[in-house]
Amino acid sequence: MALILDGKKLAQTMQAEIAAEVAQLAQQTGVRPGLAAVLVGNNSASQVYVRNKRAACQKAGLDSWLYDLPEQTTQAQLLELVQRLNADPKVHGILVQLPLPKQIDEAAIVEAVSPDKDVDGFGVSSLGFLAMGKPRFLPCTPLGIQQLLLRNNILIEGRHVVIVGRSNIVGKPLALILMQKAAGANATVTVCHSKSERLGEITKQADIVIVAIGQTHFLKADMVRPGAVVVDVGINRLPDGKLAGDVDFAAVEKVASAITPVPGGVGPMTITMLLHNTLQAARFHVNNRES
Ligand code: NDP
Repeated sequence: MALILDGKKLAQTMQAEIAAEVAQLAQQTGVRPGLAAVLVGNNSASQVYVRNKRAACQKAGLDSWLYDLPEQTTQAQLLELVQRLNADPKVHGILVQLPLPKQIDEAAIVEAVSPDKDVDGFGVSSLGFLAMGKPRFLPCTPLGIQQLLLRNNILIEGRHVVIVGRSNIVGKPLALILMQKAAGANATVTVCHSKSERLGEITKQADIVIVAIGQTHFLKADMVRPGAVVVDVGINRLPDGKLAGDVDFAAVEKVASAITPVPGGVGPMTITMLLHNTLQAARFHVNNRES
């Protein structure tokens, strides 16, 4: 049976570590890390995500503010709010929950967030720094996956990681993170997508397979080399309301050496990395203030 990579438990441990660092920073510098969360419209999943993110902030001692805007908010109004938050010294991180209503150009909003406060790591400069090997804010889900592997003593360096999915928020930055010339990375990375041929043959060559495509139970046991590590990023809602991942967990856990569950695997790590990034942003703020 595979080792279960318990993201929920690790998230609790890491959030407690972050809480201690937040308290220390506040005591030493008078600065308490603060996250501004911006929610536009009535998307119920987004409302839950933002609520969970703010609850985690509060538990770890970060300040958090919610800007809950109506569905018909215009792009100009949202841009004006982002500019105000960019200029507010108490706000160290800005989270604009996606997706945004269709009258708003998401890319323009993501780019309007100051690179110093881009705790989601979605902006062009955050991704550019990462691509250049000088990472600043790493996107939360990929960073959480790296931490989940490392903190479970799973070696990444030198191993073949196959990532299925190439989105800008998961697959692509994850590939950049794991292939960095840095401790905890140095992997040989292959990225697959919907046009990849003989995908099962490629995933079967992996030491670590990471699936982020949004298709229930896509990765089957015969696509996994016995003893490989499997990370499931997918969150899919089944007709009965339950959540399922992109991996056929029941079958794959019999061949994998370690595997993440859904829920309770990658998801809780994503929120934890948002807190980590906000703490890091507050530290940048303190260092810039002093230099
Ligand atoms: P996107 O829809 O943005 O991207 C999906 C990617 O999967 C694309 O690159 C697409 O290929 C690829 N893909 C789709 N179907 C196949 C297929 N049959 N074979 C191979 N590749 C395929 O998704 P996201 O990256 O935003 O999210 C992926 C999943 O992860 C979703 O279930 C999402 O809910 C979940 N998620 C979970 C998070 C967490 O915290 N646990 C955070 C973010 C996402 P192509 O580029 O060719 O179209």
